[in-house]
Amino acid sequence: MHQQLAARVEDLHRRAFTVDAHFDLTYEIQNRRERGQRKIIESSYLEGFRQGRVDLVVSAMFIADYFLPEMGLRRALDQISHLLEEIEESPGTCRLCRSTGEALAARQAGETALFLSLEGAEPLQDDIQLLRIFHELGVRALGLVWSRRNMVGDGAFFKPARSGQRGGLSRFGVQLVERAEALGMVIDVSHLNDEGLADVLEIASRPLIASHSNCRALAGTMRNLTDAQIEAIAAGGGVIGINAVNHFLRDDGAATIADMADHLDHLVKIAGVAHAGLGLDLCDSFPNHLNLEEALPTRDVLAGHQALAELTALLLARGYSDEAVHGILGGNFLRVFKEIVG
Ligand SMILES: [Zn+2]
Repeated sequence: MHQQLAARVEDLHRRAFTVDAHFDLTYEIQNRRERGQRKIIESSYLEGFRQGRVDLVVSAMFIADYFLPEMGLRRALDQISHLLEEIEESPGTCRLCRSTGEALAARQAGETALFLSLEGAEPLQDDIQLLRIFHELGVRALGLVWSRRNMVGDGAFFKPARSGQRGGLSRFGVQLVERAEALGMVIDVSHLNDEGLADVLEIASRPLIASHSNCRALAGTMRNLTDAQIEAIAAGGGVIGINAVNHFLRDDGAATIADMADHLDHLVKIAGVAHAGLGLDLCDSFPNHLNLEEALPTRDVLAGHQALAELTALLLARGYSDEAVHGILGGNFLRVFKEIVG
């Protein structure tokens, strides 16, 4: 990177509040702590957060298929417990935040702020009362489904698969959206199928996020959002986070960081610059992350959080203003989180 550009990028990152709206950190911590490892954030991720100047990481909880349905709740509660222990064992590095005010205070203190999110409502099964418990425990974003069916609705497949007719939100799904809004939890529509997303758009009264979804106009997987869906999420005040997963950036998987910039360009064209963000979904550092037939063998096009400066440089080279990049790096997600979570 040219020295002058590098200095501008560095300065911009120092001033920006950067958010990664989707990282499967809580799930990964559980997997590794159950194998006896400790201080995983400190040893494996903190350096990346700091070098990439990532201020807030939305740390997702995820339940693998083979635990469902019976073990969903226990696995989720264990994940929170493991995360809290991680934070205790590495004081002064990161903290679990329950509001944007706490996240800003964490940054002031030189710590990485973590928000908890659920990637799929499976731990609740169909018990609406449990949502309040998860909120009490600090969960601030609710991904309604992962790429499978649950009590809420149907997930979008990664690639075409034989199945019966697809459905929208269940009665429970509608109630869950309403209850999450009342509790001050952000509804995350990434992984939701088209029918379910249409339902959420119909019933939601607050801005939505798609924490880690790319543009279907550029890569055809059902996991990505159509232009009409992008427009609708933006019209409601929501934000869409572009991810760094090669198969969601390009159909042939031969994606690079330039494809991330292409998806951001498209997103900004359709949604406006105030509705674009980052939900990187970095997975390369997670061994055996998903061992599912339906999942694709994926690759991150960004070499960890520490490589974020490369994306920023690319955006500046494409003519984005500092203000626009601030919004994309995290200002836009921060705005929605502040409005809903507080
Ligand atoms: Zn995901």
